[in-house]
Amino acid sequence: MSDVASLRVDGDRFWDTVMRSAAIGPGVAGGLSRLALTDADRDVRRLFGALVDEAGLTLTVDKLGNMFARYEGREDLPPVVAGSHLDTQVAGGRFDGIVGVMGALEAVRTLADAGVRPRRPIVVVNWSNEEGARFPPPMSASAVFAGLQGLEWGLSRVDRDARTFGEELARIGYAGDDKVGFPIDACFELHIEQGPRLDAEGVPVGIVTGGAPTRGLKLEVRGEHAHAGPTPMLKRRNALVAAARVIVALDDIGWRHAPAGKTTSARLDVSPNLSGIISNEAALWCDMRHPEAATVEGMLAEFERAVEAVADASRCDVEVVERWCFGGDIFDDGCVALLREAADRLGHAHLDLLSEAGHDAYNIATVAPTAMVFCPCRDGITHNEAEHCDKATTIPAVDVLLHAVLARADR
Ligand SMILES: [Zn+2]
Repeated sequence: MSDVASLRVDGDRFWDTVMRSAAIGPGVAGGLSRLALTDADRDVRRLFGALVDEAGLTLTVDKLGNMFARYEGREDLPPVVAGSHLDTQVAGGRFDGIVGVMGALEAVRTLADAGVRPRRPIVVVNWSNEEGARFPPPMSASAVFAGLQGLEWGLSRVDRDARTFGEELARIGYAGDDKVGFPIDACFELHIEQGPRLDAEGVPVGIVTGGAPTRGLKLEVRGEHAHAGPTPMLKRRNALVAAARVIVALDDIGWRHAPAGKTTSARLDVSPNLSGIISNEAALWCDMRHPEAATVEGMLAEFERAVEAVADASRCDVEVVERWCFGGDIFDDGCVALLREAADRLGHAHLDLLSEAGHDAYNIATVAPTAMVFCPCRDGITHNEAEHCDKATTIPAVDVLLHAVLARADR
């Protein structure tokens, strides 16, 4: 057995796997368009499965298609889990999620090569449908894993063509037999920062201390069909207009709380969405984020007042049909400390960050000690095909992941 402290991942081998992934499901501008449960998702799952086989790990797939590659420990204890996701946004990057899966795989390969067998098993995970771009909401499969939602809920998510998650998972051949969820010792997720700080400050490692508190809502608006011409303004109940007013009100709240506060309405569905007829229905998705939980609650209250005012002014019914929240002080101090100690021992500069995006790690943090580590991405550009990471500034965070996971698994 080699000196454990001197272990380093094989950066070239790691980067090669990231680039092999980058060839699957290309977009139109150098990035990826690899939505969950498409043929491209199937193909990258096959690549991951082949890499897992080569590494001599045991692959299992659960009923939601979550993939687990197990490296045995000296004792049959609950494993330390590390990984992220291989699905992307419709116009996504080559690194978001992918460095976390391939980085965890590289960490385990490094241990295997060195003959290091930690006390607990280590499981590398590829979570299904992290992005939720095709099957909203995001992080649905890890939510079921953590018991926050039921299996039927996970299988019944639908895409815009009314195909269910379950049907499409079976179609691509990744509807596994395993029950969703098993006891784990701890979880680590390596991810690109998706913000500009590490890149701007030239720091290769971000220690993620928590998530920016986030509140989300899906609203449904009901108006009434009417002719676009003769119907008097006073008689109109235009669901599209009500939705537009809600969107502007939400954006105004974001500006009032900028720069720390952020609000987004990224999706609007309108029916019948035809010229010549006033819309009778609309659905829209809204979210708001702020580093301070009290402030995000205040933003939510402002938004709810604005929604009432819009409903009155537009004479439409506006109903909140779904709510979600994530973020906060969710990560485990012990796991965060292991990441920080690993970065110190390896001599890598690091800084503490809050994540402003959602991650599967947030769900897993509800059932096991969890932490995240970030690598830089250029200018913080993400959910964009121009997303870019440099090999040299990504590898330090993979080494940090390796040593934190190993320390936890050997505890
Ligand atoms: Zn991601």
